[in-house]
Amino acid sequence: MIPYGRQTIDENDIKRVVKTLRSPWLTQGPAVLEFEKLLAKAGGVKYAVAVSSGTAALHLAYLAVGLKKGDEVITTPNTFAATANMLLAVGAKPVFCDIRLDTYNIDERKVERLITKRTRALAVVDFAGQPAEMKEIYRIAKKHKLLLIEDASHSLGASYRGRSVGSLADLTTLSFHPVKAIATGEGGAVLTNNKKLYETIKLLRSHGIFKDNRGKNVMVALGFNYRMSDIQAALGTSQLEKLDKFIRLRNQASKWYEEEFVGLEHIILPQTLPHNYSAWHIYVIRVKYPKLRDKLWRYLVKKGIGANFHYPAVYTHPYYQKLGYGKKKFRNEELYSQSCITLPLYPTLKRREVHFIASCLKEWFK
Ligand SMILES: *Cc1c(COP(=O)(O)O)cnc(C)c1O
Repeated sequence: MIPYGRQTIDENDIKRVVKTLRSPWLTQGPAVLEFEKLLAKAGGVKYAVAVSSGTAALHLAYLAVGLKKGDEVITTPNTFAATANMLLAVGAKPVFCDIRLDTYNIDERKVERLITKRTRALAVVDFAGQPAEMKEIYRIAKKHKLLLIEDASHSLGASYRGRSVGSLADLTTLSFHPVKAIATGEGGAVLTNNKKLYETIKLLRSHGIFKDNRGKNVMVALGFNYRMSDIQAALGTSQLEKLDKFIRLRNQASKWYEEEFVGLEHIILPQTLPHNYSAWHIYVIRVKYPKLRDKLWRYLVKKGIGANFHYPAVYTHPYYQKLGYGKKKFRNEELYSQSCITLPLYPTLKRREVHFIASCLKEWFK
């Protein structure tokens, strides 16, 4: 089976992890500090906090912003559920906004009309690795005194109008799950230039406990154990050194698909806006006749191709339905989520594999 995504681990990664296993530190220690320094640099920000997952990163980002019961946060339905789930976890209400049909990111032209007296923040996602329209979104956030959180789980290594993802929002969250740009097994991080938010996130990562000037542990906030281990961070550092190469290879594979699909009129190819450099987390096509989508998916799986769906609209999940979110809310999101299909894309995907996948698609449409 050709999976839709996978990690790229080499001997050097393995050596770095083994070296840590022989060191005195296994849990959060010097390797985490080193990884954080490199992460901040990659994102073009002052501070990075490494944590145990992308979900933990979102949870801490939302808590640091001070979200609480009754607060509303405008977000996208085209994302992994965790973006909205962690809003619910802190008691806030996700207010979904329709997406654009070219990038499948939140439609910045539809955000402002959703702002109410209760709105406290905007939480956007760089879908498939392409940054959302951050200049306009940042302008809206500042005009209404809202904090801006960017879930960049797909877009580490991408840039927007020449600026690295990481420096485009008040808080940027990352995931290092194996299908993402770099892997640490499980892992995530929050990036920011705001010292106060940084201090809060660090405190909440480890039980809300800090050492006072006499070396005593003092707990001042209700925190968690969301620490990353040095074992994971050693892998992260080794992976991060290869980030640019990984993203180049992902861009290359997306070009191969584009070449293969020239003239195939039954599908809509993904588009990248000219001012974006995408991290190409996933390769999503749309089927022009949505009724054919599930049949095509079953055929691809039978051929050994790990086609997937990213994503069903978050509000259609049973949990959200029970909370009273309606089923058919947005024109673009409905059309998108019924016609999308994800094809394999990762740094070591071969030219001939792309050719095989494209040939299967072409044959099926014939
Ligand atoms: C992967 C992902 C997450 C969650 O990250 P984990 O590390 O799996 O907890 C959150 N948001 C988006 C958009 C993701 O793709």
